[in-house]
Amino acid sequence: MPIYKCHCGQIEWEVKLEDRAHVLCHCDTCKQLGGGAYSLNQILPKENLKLTKGKLNTYTYHGDSGKPVNCYYCPNCTTHVYHHQTVMGDKIVVRIILLDQGKSLKPSAEVFGKDRLPWEIEVAQTFQVMPPS
Ligand SMILES: [Zn+2]
Ligand SMILES: [Zn+2]
Repeated sequence: MPIYKCHCGQIEWEVKLEDRAHVLCHCDTCKQLGGGAYSLNQILPKENLKLTKGKLNTYTYHGDSGKPVNCYYCPNCTTHVYHHQTVMGDKIVVRIILLDQGKSLKPSAEVFGKDRLPWEIEVAQTFQVMPPS
């Protein structure tokens, strides 16, 4: 598996993708934490991600469900590697735009479509919040 790095290189990880595509997240938290209109992710079993270097910090907030969401990020450069919505059990949301091949992947779905900016066009199947599991 290829190895991926945060912006400063202090953290490295490996990810096994299930699909060569992005899930766009339009939620307001992604806008605030990432500084962009949306984030580019894949929802994967926790075991698909393996941290190979460094130690992540955790920031916790409460999501729409009222359950905690833990965000794991580099303590030095603040790159967010993945988020864990505890309501999703052992699935995690991995920021796959950070992968080397991330820029060549197409969108497969959009979540939190209710928070999409009004001037953004729909590029994939959109769910108002999360897809039914
Ligand atoms: Zn870093
Ligand atoms: Zn989001």
